[in-house]
Amino acid sequence: MQLTINHFFPKKLNLYADRGNIITLQKRCEWRGITSKVVEVHTIEDANVAEADILIIGGGSDREQSLVTDELTKIQSELKAAIEDGVSCLAICGGYQFLGDYYQLPDGNKLPGLQLFDFYTISKPGRLTGNILLNSGKFGKVVGFENHGGRTYHSYRPLGEVVKGQGNNGEDGKEGIHYKNLVGTYLHGPLLPKNPQIADCLISNALERKYGNVKLFRLDDHLESIAKNRIWEREANRQ
Ligand code: GLN
Repeated sequence: MQLTINHFFPKKLNLYADRGNIITLQKRCEWRGITSKVVEVHTIEDANVAEADILIIGGGSDREQSLVTDELTKIQSELKAAIEDGVSCLAICGGYQFLGDYYQLPDGNKLPGLQLFDFYTISKPGRLTGNILLNSGKFGKVVGFENHGGRTYHSYRPLGEVVKGQGNNGEDGKEGIHYKNLVGTYLHGPLLPKNPQIADCLISNALERKYGNVKLFRLDDHLESIAKNRIWEREANRQ
């Protein structure tokens, strides 16, 4: 079995070691004998969304975001079709903001989004920064780190409810989006090594879509569990 991962703009959208998400997907495939091929999309011509099993868009600063906005727009319809068809997709921070209608910069200018979802993001004074804890209906406890000026507003199913931290906008107690097999989130840090259950969900959905019903065998995640529980207790009890 083989999975192809399209990693969008790995040099520009790689804040806080988001590349760790790719390494996690590759290792968790390798440990199960699944081959993974990573296609680094440096210019939009490198992308082959129709053949991709997993799409990854990382986070970037406002500057980097404005540099790749026009490029991503060129494949808007392919991305929309892939997401609707259930391709596994992970979009982090700036990558998550791209999915909506627009991102309003601190100077008031709007960067157009891909308009794949009916939501918007507005940058407001004061960054939402720090460790974050979520309770997710699908994934249980999720831990991470957030640092964003943008506030995102929507009424889709979130990735989780905020237990500690700020989430989508610091107001409504929601974090991220979970739509079909797409996860969009502000959690950097990176997300997948700390939350391997999300990595496995992206992998198993991708395999199922490609090969039919495939059962992933469990990996020994006891160290990951200890680390997560430790972070959870420390942050939940921090004043
Ligand atoms: N431009 C975004 C913000 O500050 C992106 C930040 C990020 O990807 N960490 O809201």
